[in-house]
Amino acid sequence: MFISSSVALRIILVGTLALLLCSHLPAQSVEDSSYPTRDATVVRVVREVRRDSLEKSVRALAAFPTRHTLSGATGADAAANWIAKEFTAISNVTGKRLQVKKEVWVQPAGTRMNSPETLTNVLAVLPGTLTGEDERIIIVSGHYDSRVTDVMNATSRAPGANDDASGVAVVLELARTMSQEKFPCTIIFAAVTGEEQALLGSTHLAQRMTAEKKNVIAMFTNDIVGNSRGANGKKDDKHLRIFSAGYNPVESQNDLLRRRAWGTDADSPSRTLARTATDAVRRYIKGFTLDLIYRNDRYGRGGDHTPFLEQGFAACRFTEPNENWDHQHQDLRTEKGVIYGDLPEYVDYAYLARVAQVNAAVVADLAAAPATPSRVALKGDLSAETTLTFVAPSDAVAVEILWRKTSSPDWEGFRRFPVSDRQAILPISKDDYLFAVRSVSKSGSRSLPAIPVSSR
Ligand SMILES: [Zn+2]
Repeated sequence: MFISSSVALRIILVGTLALLLCSHLPAQSVEDSSYPTRDATVVRVVREVRRDSLEKSVRALAAFPTRHTLSGATGADAAANWIAKEFTAISNVTGKRLQVKKEVWVQPAGTRMNSPETLTNVLAVLPGTLTGEDERIIIVSGHYDSRVTDVMNATSRAPGANDDASGVAVVLELARTMSQEKFPCTIIFAAVTGEEQALLGSTHLAQRMTAEKKNVIAMFTNDIVGNSRGANGKKDDKHLRIFSAGYNPVESQNDLLRRRAWGTDADSPSRTLARTATDAVRRYIKGFTLDLIYRNDRYGRGGDHTPFLEQGFAACRFTEPNENWDHQHQDLRTEKGVIYGDLPEYVDYAYLARVAQVNAAVVADLAAAPATPSRVALKGDLSAETTLTFVAPSDAVAVEILWRKTSSPDWEGFRRFPVSDRQAILPISKDDYLFAVRSVSKSGSRSLPAIPVSSR
């Protein structure tokens, strides 16, 4: 059997490490100088986020009398026109690179719709340099519809500042900051409607992506992301939650059985995406943490990522850490000295700017990254070490093997290998650890990782 000198050296090094460290493998320093940790393009996008621009958007959206899905010309339709105008204005100052589109359809009557209605999503597409079969798409959304206490009330004033003008403001700000740069991936900035009437706009968009066989690699919804003080009185402006499902609803029975056999049942596409997001935040956003929440959404509640999850796409939800329900879904009123209503004065704009930076880091790093490595396999041999094989994409300069203990929620370390290696041996047990393999670009962005299949 032929063993290249670099592989032989690696085996010796790995063997020595194994002896020295028993079963514990220290993580390679993230700050290894040979490869940048932060992509300069992504750093620019994060830095460009402006608080005043976010506040302007929230206040403008909250000024519509209501944006209820069924509020018609002076409500939802007027808000949709305003969002389309904003996207166009952004595009006009960033080289006309955004394709602004209204997605219009007739929604049949349903549980929260008494009759068929014409609905509108407003989209801005930033085309990537990859096209055709190579195209990869990232979607980032917020919903522009609002509501009061009665979900069918389409006339009462419903400012919806935090739910969800805050999410739409983030989407507009990302469109502004990201359209100043070029990315391999296509990004769809989506302001969707009908969230409160049962996720109608996001369902329409998700189903269209499937029908058009679009390669959506990641979807994020921003919903209730601007308030830092919860109903419990706690103020927290240094965390954001990311919700992810531990299952893939369209997974085949065969794939499910294989994942059970390999013990990779905590590595669904959406959860892998959530861990990728926490990694980007650690690399780009100092003093701020993205908290992994291991459920698809808040208890018994829903959001616009779920229709994408149901189509088999990796999809996650961003939401503030402490919600205040006095300022969500409420008729505007004062009772016993308590002010109810989703008003713009209850949005913390400095916090919202941090949330927009988190989105910028996560979306831009993924958009700039090479493809995920292919043919990633784990050798199921009876040995104390772990052998992984992989094929790196042509635009990667290295791959990183990530690992964590089976009981750990997030990756604990990584080790980098040249793309030419195609094989990595780690001195830790495949019984006790989980693994993934990601690509690294020359400029420092990281791809979504691949979860290895068994090569046994
Ligand atoms: Zn909402």
